[in-house]
Amino acid sequence: MNVYISIDMEGVAGIATREQCRRGSSDYEIGRELMTREANAAIAGAFDGGAARVVCNDAHADMANLLPSELDPRAEVILGSPKVEYSMMEGVADDFGAALFVGYHAGAGEPAAVLAHTYSGASFYQVRLNDAPVTEAELNALVAGAHGVPVALVTGDDRICAIVRDRLPGVRTAAVKRSHSFTVGASMHPERAREDIRRASAEAVNGAKELAPTTAPGPFTIEVDLTDMRRAELCGLVPGAQRAGRTVRYTSRDYLEAFRCLRAWLYLGAAGA
Ligand SMILES: [Zn+2]
Repeated sequence: MNVYISIDMEGVAGIATREQCRRGSSDYEIGRELMTREANAAIAGAFDGGAARVVCNDAHADMANLLPSELDPRAEVILGSPKVEYSMMEGVADDFGAALFVGYHAGAGEPAAVLAHTYSGASFYQVRLNDAPVTEAELNALVAGAHGVPVALVTGDDRICAIVRDRLPGVRTAAVKRSHSFTVGASMHPERAREDIRRASAEAVNGAKELAPTTAPGPFTIEVDLTDMRRAELCGLVPGAQRAGRTVRYTSRDYLEAFRCLRAWLYLGAAGA
């Protein structure tokens, strides 16, 4: 089985502050090292569980955080940005048997959740899918689902693990920290967290055949509250998008088209900074 890993940074064990996740900060090298080692735990677990091939997509910020020469040499890594096709899910395709989300976090506006945001911390105040606030894990699960790939594992803080257990039936989780507030968490020691992730990854890959891909009946209405008017005005330029004040909305029968609009808003929102 081919296994796809999307790894973010905010939900990695030992991480709780913005500085650890931001290039240019003196703490950033610590963050990327922790992220790389956690990627290796998930990769090793996937091979333990029977994976034939593992592709690991760096899914945080500029998407070039993982230290390539420190990664498990059995895996391929997808690095760089902008990833115009699928962003956090770049490279996912029909020939994968399972997707694993590592280092994930809760969605924008979630109370008392470490570094919670949905795709953009600076531009997106809240993201909704068919009127319900949504997390990156759910948005990305539907991208995998469009390719027939089930999400078998989510790791991160206790908040995102609880959310996906509720919304992605059958998914395994490994919570590596308890969120106290936006920049405070009680983390397991990173080594212990990696042991848990490796074990959970092996079980997830082993049991992936019994899982159904995440799908939902359309149409899909994606809605974003922007953090300021200038960003909202630019996001309103997308053909077919509607805007009311700081909120933009786009509806499609095709989930991947709605997701594509969200990614256009990500770049337009940044351009409006
Ligand atoms: Zn994220």
